[in-house]
Amino acid sequence: MRLINCEAQFKALFERTKDAVFLLDLNGVHIAANKRASEIFGYEPEELERLTYKDLSLEIDASEQVMKRLLAGENIPKYRRLFRHKDGRIIPVEIDIEIVKNSKGAPIYLQSIVQDISERVAFEKHTAYNAKFQKMLMEIAIDFLRITPGHFDEALNQLLKSVGLFCQVDRTYYFRYDHVAKTTSNTHEWCAEGVTPEIENLQDIPFTLIETWVNAHFNGNTIYIPDVQNLEESTLKEILSSQGIKTLITIPVMNGDLCLGFVGFDAVNALKIWTDEERALLEMLSILIGNAEIRLDNDRKLSLALNQAEAANSAKSKFLANMSHEIRTPLNGILGMLNLLIKSGIDEHQKEYANKAEAYSKNLLNTLNDILDYAKMEKSAMKLEDEVFKLSQVFDEIEAIVYPSAHDKGLTFGIELDPRLPDTLMGDVSKFKQVLINLLGNSVKFTHAGSVNVEVTYESQQDLTVNLLIVVKDTGIGIDADHLNRIFEPFMQVEDSVNRRYGGTGLGLSIVKEIVELMHGHVIVKSTINLGSAFYITLPFQKVMTSLDETSQKQVSSLNHEILQTLKSLEISIRQQKPKDCKHLMEIIDGTTLHNGYKTQLDELKRYLKHFEFESAHEIVITLIDELE
Ligand code: ADP
Repeated sequence: MRLINCEAQFKALFERTKDAVFLLDLNGVHIAANKRASEIFGYEPEELERLTYKDLSLEIDASEQVMKRLLAGENIPKYRRLFRHKDGRIIPVEIDIEIVKNSKGAPIYLQSIVQDISERVAFEKHTAYNAKFQKMLMEIAIDFLRITPGHFDEALNQLLKSVGLFCQVDRTYYFRYDHVAKTTSNTHEWCAEGVTPEIENLQDIPFTLIETWVNAHFNGNTIYIPDVQNLEESTLKEILSSQGIKTLITIPVMNGDLCLGFVGFDAVNALKIWTDEERALLEMLSILIGNAEIRLDNDRKLSLALNQAEAANSAKSKFLANMSHEIRTPLNGILGMLNLLIKSGIDEHQKEYANKAEAYSKNLLNTLNDILDYAKMEKSAMKLEDEVFKLSQVFDEIEAIVYPSAHDKGLTFGIELDPRLPDTLMGDVSKFKQVLINLLGNSVKFTHAGSVNVEVTYESQQDLTVNLLIVVKDTGIGIDADHLNRIFEPFMQVEDSVNRRYGGTGLGLSIVKEIVELMHGHVIVKSTINLGSAFYITLPFQKVMTSLDETSQKQVSSLNHEILQTLKSLEISIRQQKPKDCKHLMEIIDGTTLHNGYKTQLDELKRYLKHFEFESAHEIVITLIDELE
């Protein structure tokens, strides 16, 4: 009775379990199989009992190996196999097999529990597919972040291809909406092998032809047509069918509320089911494209604005240069006239006014020169000119210019020239002086007590060159650390109010830096607030071996200066054709010690003036001014 009960219980268990259960002899032939086994593999129970494991397994070799290991006494953990349904379908299964032994430990039969894991495997595949899809999108996103305007088309074509291949569709494409012309055009397309491209046929399609379609996109909605054949008869169905499309999905590409276009995926050869996850990923893709479109559009606008700004800036520089030039010419005339006025025997009182007017005019000229230099700098039009000069003479002139203003402020001013330095050098001396005057002008301007000093020595010397080191030091207001590294930028002034308190354009130091670097030198500044500043300049100059006649050099330079002022006033008088002034000027020219180099021209000039031949005289004056400047 107990035995009968036991067998009945076993039978009930055998049949109730939701997995297939097989009992096999030691050769792998089925002894028994439960009903579930019949259901899963599609065989009648009697049919199953005639089969061996080899008739179900698709991986016979691997299954044979398992049998061998079992018979050898090994325990086999659960494993996966591919089995075949009677109708040929492949069924992934998980097998839990063990050997049943008698009381003496000898194997009698095998017991195998086979679980149909089709759903689990499908789920795993699905998850792996989505993960791969996400990874691909990430990579595309990174590429799209780095995209530059010239590479958008290439990147978008690549994207359409990658997604098309991955999702196994037949055609992928991008359309742009033209909101002005109210049409849409296919701009990018990828087709699988053997699929006809449609891009040529899909240009300038009017919105009116596909109104519902366009409206859906404009509202930010995806259009998903699982089976085109199920669409009601319409123009849309006609258009899609004519391209052989079976399944279609298009996702709008938005910029806020504005629909820029759409990205679409056609299945031509077979229907395609798009899962919710895939659709979510495609939406991400459309966001990516949208972002790239917006960014590139911004880049385009930015570069347009930049070009316009550059054009405006260059026009401004040109205007600055022209204006400063225009103002400089009459200003030179004013200076010349003032010079004549001072020499014309006016009384002391008048002389004082004239001197002040001359000083203001010179200030104005300096500011104008700064602006002109800056404009030239911006247009990269500044050029260097080589000239032989005497270092000692340069510093004598600098002293003559700076000393009066330093003295007026009660500052001590000194220049220390290293005696080991060669005196005759070659380089752009006027730019060199401009650098020194700018720096010293600042030092005097920003120092209220103490001293302003210049030390001139060298950093290095070779046979043919010397690298001058010039240190301009003052005990002035100093520059705070925050401003120090921006001090060479154009228009940079430490305080906004500086302009009002100290005057200036904020251009001086940027011009200094530009000139020094143009001359292949460099400039640095060290400064402590309230203690003072020191500017260190190194500048290379060529040594001049031939010893020049010093006195003639000096004469030339002072004569040039004197005569230049005279000539400038003369030029204005000649233009206005005032014979009286000419006479007066001729006297001045006569009184000047003429340098041999200009004697002929000046004689000729006098001759023309004597006969009031203004045109020829004007020409000579202009040539002389050009040569002397
Ligand atoms: P500007 O003197 O015309 O204002 P600069 O370019 O020559 O223009 O100088 C820029 C600014 O740098 C000045 O306005 C001033 O704030 C600061 N600066 C220049 N030189 C000195 C100096 N020696 N001591 C203190 N501040 C200075």
